[in-house]
Amino acid sequence: MKPKQIAIFGSTGSIGKNALRVLDALGAGYEIVALSAHSSVELLAEQARKFKPRFVAVTNADYVEPLRKLLGDLDVEILAGPDGLTEIAQLDEVDIVLTAVVGVAGLSAALAAAKNGKILAAANKESLVVAGELLRRTAKENGAAVLPVDSEHSAIFQAMQAGSRQEVSKIILTASGGPFRKATAEDIQNVTVQQALCHPVWDMGPKVTIDSATMVNKACEVIAAHWLFDMPVEKIEVLVHPESIIHSLVEFVDGSVIAQLGLPDMCLPIQYALTYPERVAGIAERLRLDEIGKLTFEKPDLEKFRALALGFEVARMGGTGPAVFNAANEVAVQEFLAGRIKFVNIVELIENCVGKHNVKRRVSLEELLEADAWARREVSECLKAKKS
Ligand code: MG
Repeated sequence: MKPKQIAIFGSTGSIGKNALRVLDALGAGYEIVALSAHSSVELLAEQARKFKPRFVAVTNADYVEPLRKLLGDLDVEILAGPDGLTEIAQLDEVDIVLTAVVGVAGLSAALAAAKNGKILAAANKESLVVAGELLRRTAKENGAAVLPVDSEHSAIFQAMQAGSRQEVSKIILTASGGPFRKATAEDIQNVTVQQALCHPVWDMGPKVTIDSATMVNKACEVIAAHWLFDMPVEKIEVLVHPESIIHSLVEFVDGSVIAQLGLPDMCLPIQYALTYPERVAGIAERLRLDEIGKLTFEKPDLEKFRALALGFEVARMGGTGPAVFNAANEVAVQEFLAGRIKFVNIVELIENCVGKHNVKRRVSLEELLEADAWARREVSECLKAKKS
C-alpha cells in the first residue's frame, strides 16, 4: 500500500513536535510531504534534514532567507507567508493535513484542506472555535473529514464509535480545573503571571496555559465540540476531573457511559487522528490504574470561572460570536502576560466585548475575520478608556 502523505503545519510547536515523534515511530506507512513553522527556522531546518519533506513553509516571510541559508544544500522547495500553507493543503499528493499552527494562519490552511477533500487533523483552535460552523459546512460539501486532535475531542470521537450518532444523549468534556481550581474568588483577584503559568497537569505554551487557568480553553472546547460532533449545546457538559486520566465521556440513550482513558500525553490523540480508523502500536505510555489509585470528579464552578459559562453562551450564539470571544481573549491574554492588566480583567474584557457584539450568522471567512478585527479594536479601546 502507498504510504499516507502527511503535511504538518506548525511542526516546531508542542503538537507538531509530538506528531513527528509519533510518525517517526509509526515508520513506513507514513511519509511527510511538508513541514511548516512561523519563525523557528533552526528547528524547522533540523526537522527538514531528518524527515526530508518536499516542501517547507515559513509563515513569517522575514525568516525565509535565514531558512534558505540553513537548507541551501537540501533538495526542498521553500514557501513563504501564510499562502504557503494554503498552497500545500491543495496539493494532490497530500492525504492528511495536520494543522497545529496557532492563530488565523491555521484557519485558512484548514479551510483549504477541507475544500480539497483532505483528511484534516485539526489541532488549530481557531479553525474549530472561530470558524467551526464554516469548516464543517466546507468539509461536508467537499467530502473532507475533520478529525479531532485535542485530547478531549479525541476521547469523545473514540467513545462515539460505541454507537451511532443518533444514540448519543450527551457528551461530557472533562477539565483538569487548572491551577486555580481550589482558589477562592479573592485569591484569583491577586493572581500573578507566574502562578497562572503553572499548570498542574499539562505542559503547554504560555497562551494555552493562561487559557486553562481562566477556563477559556474549556469554553473553546465546548464551542469546538458543538461543531465537531454536530451536538446541540444543551447536550454538552463539563466535568472537572483533576487527575486528567479520563479525557472525556459519551452518554448514550440507554444510559451507558463510554469513557476514554489514558495518561496525559498528546501522542495518543495525535496518533489516533493520523491512523484512524485503525489502531496501531505506538509510543504512548501505558496507563496503570493501580498506580493512579483513584479518580475524582466535581462540578465546575461557573460563578468563579465565568469564562466557561460564557463559552456555553457563545456556542449557542454561533455565527460570529465565537470569533469575537476568541479575539477578545487573545488581546486580553497578551495584556496580562505583559503585566498590563490583572488576571480577572481577562474575562471581564471578553464579557464586555461579547456583550456589545451584534452577531451575524452563516458567515464567510471574510466576515469572521472582520468580527475578529472588530473585537481586537473594541478591547484595545476599552483598555485605553480605562487608562484615561
Ligand atoms: Mg484540551
